[in-house]
Amino acid sequence: MDDSKQDQTAEVAGRLKALRARIAAAAVSAGRDPASVTLVAVGKTQGPAAIAAALAAGQRVFGENRVQEAQAKFPELIQAHPDLVLHLIGPLQTNKAEAAVALFHVIETLDRPKLAQALAKAMAKVAARGGRRPACLIQVNTGEEPQKAGVFPEKAANLIALARDELGLPVTGLMCIPPLGEAHAPHFALLGEIAKRNALSTLSMGMSGDFETAIGFGATQVRVGSAIFGPRG
Ligand SMILES: *Cc1c(COP(=O)(O)O)cnc(C)c1O
Repeated sequence: MDDSKQDQTAEVAGRLKALRARIAAAAVSAGRDPASVTLVAVGKTQGPAAIAAALAAGQRVFGENRVQEAQAKFPELIQAHPDLVLHLIGPLQTNKAEAAVALFHVIETLDRPKLAQALAKAMAKVAARGGRRPACLIQVNTGEEPQKAGVFPEKAANLIALARDELGLPVTGLMCIPPLGEAHAPHFALLGEIAKRNALSTLSMGMSGDFETAIGFGATQVRVGSAIFGPRG
């Protein structure tokens, strides 16, 4: 290993250690078990060396925004680390549903009926050749921002009913990305309420800047990128 690689490995390991301590402290101060919060390391735009550094530091759960980028980075790593868990956290086009089902263990961005239909078809196809069925989270656009992905809160129950109850998709929870420039706490609270009303237990919320708040509102998964890998280029 050359010096700069060694530096990056040490740096990522140090940031991960500090981050895990902050996650545990936030859980404890919310009266929760630290083990109830999963850290999803968001490696978008990061090269193989950064991902390798996180793996060397024991990190096993990763998030990627784009199917193509993940296809280029992860298949061999998954072969080498059968316990690696890969989450799709960016928008998914229906024509990439099958590729996403074949690669990811969790799809966090199910946000419309058409995509639910496409995922059901893709899962049947992939399962027929012996593949697994990824868990699905429903992405909720809690801020009702027109340009942002996610089902609006008042339509969430309908989408959950379609995806989980009619199509039989393994829907386990909800995900949200609160609007920039406003308090995130009300959005986290709203996501928790929608989950409760629909008997869902997984809450994916909180990023580098707000994961402690999210944990206070019941996040079971936090998606953290820059606090692990440094600022994106
Ligand atoms: C990039 C990204 C993150 C991580 O953001 P950081 O602020 O770098 O922690 C989390 N969730 C989603 C959906 C993202 O696109």
